[in-house]
Amino acid sequence: MDPKESMSPMSTSCGQFGGALEQRTITHRQPWGDELYEFENVPAWVCSQCGETWLDAGVGQLIENIIQEHPKPQRYHQVPVFSLTEFRL
Ligand SMILES: [Zn+2]
Repeated sequence: MDPKESMSPMSTSCGQFGGALEQRTITHRQPWGDELYEFENVPAWVCSQCGETWLDAGVGQLIENIIQEHPKPQRYHQVPVFSLTEFRL
């Protein structure tokens, strides 16, 4: 897991710039091995300054459990994948 996203906010401000965190419902993409999982309606904390998202520890744990138990997903959608080595900067 992305450590920044798996940490529970200790306070209601962002650790990086001290921005205020707002409770929002987001779509969260979780890389796992070679796969990318997407979760909708995830309650998260979003920093009003840098846009960093934080998940409560319980939410992060639930996402991990879902990935490991792998129940039938609501739906699939394909994600385009690009390798930057194929492009010029
Ligand atoms: Zn921030």
